[in-house]
Amino acid sequence: MTNRADVEKLDASDPLAPFRERFALGSDENLIYLDGNSLGRPPKSTLARLRAAAEEEWAGQLIRGWSHWIELARKAGDVLAGGVVGARPGEVVVSDSTSVNLYKLAAAALDARPGRRVIVTDDDNFPTDQYILAGLAEARGLELRRIPTDIDTGVTLAGVREALSDDVALVSLSHVAYRSGAIADMHGITAAAHEAGALMLWDLCHSAGSVPVPLTAANVDLAVGCTYKHLNAGPGAPAFLYVRSDLQPQLRQPIWGWFGQRDQFGMAGDYDPVDTIERFLVGTPPVPGLYGVLEGASLSAEAGIDAIYAKAQGLTDLMVSLHDEWLAPLGFTLASPRDAAQRGAHVTLHHPQAWQICQAWQAEGVIPDFRTPERLRIGPAPLYTRYADVFEAFERLRDLVQEGRHNAFPAERSRVT
Ligand SMILES: *Cc1c(COP(=O)(O)O)cnc(C)c1O
Repeated sequence: MTNRADVEKLDASDPLAPFRERFALGSDENLIYLDGNSLGRPPKSTLARLRAAAEEEWAGQLIRGWSHWIELARKAGDVLAGGVVGARPGEVVVSDSTSVNLYKLAAAALDARPGRRVIVTDDDNFPTDQYILAGLAEARGLELRRIPTDIDTGVTLAGVREALSDDVALVSLSHVAYRSGAIADMHGITAAAHEAGALMLWDLCHSAGSVPVPLTAANVDLAVGCTYKHLNAGPGAPAFLYVRSDLQPQLRQPIWGWFGQRDQFGMAGDYDPVDTIERFLVGTPPVPGLYGVLEGASLSAEAGIDAIYAKAQGLTDLMVSLHDEWLAPLGFTLASPRDAAQRGAHVTLHHPQAWQICQAWQAEGVIPDFRTPERLRIGPAPLYTRYADVFEAFERLRDLVQEGRHNAFPAERSRVT
């Protein structure tokens, strides 16, 4: 049986424990936040940086600030490349949202495989990914082929192989599944796509900052990902995109903006893009958001992705154990891979009354996420969630369900974030 004293020992020997005080934790000491994979907490350094960016840089430097703001997208990209997603300098840049970057890179990939008529994704990919790819397929008269995927165990190499053929232009999948947390086989799937002559585009939203991402090692072509989840860059902070260096001059993105232009301030009327990663930029970047990415990504890089992933496995293993001991007898089932090696940094539990339980848990000071169908998605953040927080949160969950307190909450789902 898991007990509180054992869990406190895990915190006492946790090498990442000192990172907790690098975050602004708010004033509610009773609150246990288990949704850092939807919106991470603010690093203190980010708050200081944003204040300085407004008061000193914007107010003091005015337009002159652009002489260094203009380098932030690449600078933050290099921190992500070297410290977070296993890529080389100059292969990652920060811009736009994940949805827009997915569109840009998917369109560029399709243009690079003329004559091929199929885009492969899976039917449990994050909705925006499915919509963007469906929109591209419809506009170009292509087929969107969706691999049927088990929502609790994730997309498999065998499933991808079955969907491949010599008319596939692009395979686009999520590395860590947003609902179950299942990790896809980046090496195997990328190699299979390449064997079929297709380009591979990974969505890293739930893996960047939580699990190792072997972009260079797996010879990945293209990737996108967001920064406001595990990278703690702040609400609406811009996303990143990755293009392998040899592909950069070959690919043409569909939104021809002036931030991709050679001699941008030469103001020429004809589009002539640079050959580097800035080729995939479009327009004026959100400077406060870029500072959020720079600070958040630097903090994760400092902690080290291997250490973050090791603690994510420890935290989610604890959740699985507590589920088995306390929650399974109350009607919960595990809706994530049981093996930590197959799982990202969150655990999802199914219960027929998950929506009511979600509301009741929040009323008791724990913030999880709700995901259809009838699932609680529980995301600890290795940089600031303690093992004791998980223990305490699960104890509250067990007690409230045991006592039926969730029955007082509406069963009808309202707005969900
Ligand atoms: C969160 C998330 C997104 C979000 O895309 P935005 O453009 O930032 O809204 C996209 N894909 C996945 C897999 C996500 O988890």
